[in-house]
Amino acid sequence: MGKCINHPERETSFMCQKYGVYMCEECLQCRDPDLYCKYRESCPIWFMTKKKNLDEPKQAAAAG
Ligand code: SF4
Repeated sequence: MGKCINHPERETSFMCQKYGVYMCEECLQCRDPDLYCKYRESCPIWFMTKKKNLDEPKQAAAAG
């Protein structure tokens, strides 16, 4: 467990193993979606990032 990088008051168990930073559920986003990551296949953050993008295709398109 650690503190969310954006919300230091929140405890979370989600950590980007590549960069060693924690993210709460609200902040879950792969830190490096376009680069190779050896942790990706077993990374729950990557899984949640893909799921979020599928759930919110309009927001992703607007932001991009
Ligand atoms: S897949 Fe993304 S979030 Fe997961 S460890 Fe790699 S860089 Fe970090």
